[in-house]
Amino acid sequence: MAFIGGGGVSVRVGAAHAGKTKVVCRRAGERACTAQKSFRSRSNMTGMTAANAEAGTDAAAKRLTKPGPQLLDTVNTFIFDCDGVIWRGDSVIDGVPETLDFLRAQGKRLFFVTNNSTKSRKGYLGKFTKLGLPVKAEEIFSSSFAAAAYLEEINFKATGKKVYIIGEVGIQEELDLIGVPYIGGEQDKGKQPDMSPGSALEHDHDVGAVIVGFDRYVNYYKIQYAQLCINENPGCLFIATNLDAVTHLTDAQEWAGNGSMVGAIKGCTGREPIVVGKPAPLMIDYLVNKYKVQRSEICMVGDRLDTDILFGKNNGLSTVLTLSGVTTEQKLTSPDNKIQPQWVVDSIADFRQE
Ligand SMILES: [Mg+2]
Repeated sequence: MAFIGGGGVSVRVGAAHAGKTKVVCRRAGERACTAQKSFRSRSNMTGMTAANAEAGTDAAAKRLTKPGPQLLDTVNTFIFDCDGVIWRGDSVIDGVPETLDFLRAQGKRLFFVTNNSTKSRKGYLGKFTKLGLPVKAEEIFSSSFAAAAYLEEINFKATGKKVYIIGEVGIQEELDLIGVPYIGGEQDKGKQPDMSPGSALEHDHDVGAVIVGFDRYVNYYKIQYAQLCINENPGCLFIATNLDAVTHLTDAQEWAGNGSMVGAIKGCTGREPIVVGKPAPLMIDYLVNKYKVQRSEICMVGDRLDTDILFGKNNGLSTVLTLSGVTTEQKLTSPDNKIQPQWVVDSIADFRQE
């Protein structure tokens, strides 16, 4: 297993299924990362089929009825997905503040992870604060932060190159914090390339990485720009904050997620991205290295089977599915679902039951 060094914390990026971890990414400036091939081909974009193969022999999830002996006695670190676990849209889920207080009072370490890259950690801190939840910035792992953390780990800054962003302000703020220059993002909102006969879009040859995150203002200009950087700039990295198929912009329906933006860039480059958000293992490696915590003492709590629970299982963590988000009990128990968490709860308020 190879690690990416630098910065005091080593992480492996991309593929991680216990015992099958492939390579890791190469340094900035080299050609495409091939690290995740086997993992990526099994995950997300191809969806449940691969996951099914991974989790085919799992025992059915059990109801958490005695949190103490079943969970709290052995777990010292909880990683919570946010949407559908902590909040739904802009409302805190009932019982969550008390549960977080309860876990902190027991000395548990808490982290909050989200694949949504539209906000930075600072942006999410604002949301937690607004919702009355006392959380520290270092407890938040947004995929925008994960992208910046990855660039730090490969010492991207030393290349003197810049980043082209498809995405929103969250990625920009995280790159500002690590001092990596970027173009694109919000400034390319609403742009259209000149496509009259003989026209060409000029691009910056100093772009050494394209980061693709969820972007409500994605357009053909951005896709063409990213295509030119990746296809024409030698060694340009292609980094995806996540591959989520759908997201929940509103409560009324599912909306096309970052998988659609990443898919557009895959389609015109033939390249596979380096994925830094769930279910890639970067965050777990970061936590294990930085806080010296054992994987067996970490529990992943989420509302999605194919990202949160798969992420936990692929990384050797305990897993709890909460039914307070997108997954119904019917979906969990369906014969079509082969991803089984260890435990299932109605909401994390169940962690406090006697
Ligand atoms: Mg969720």
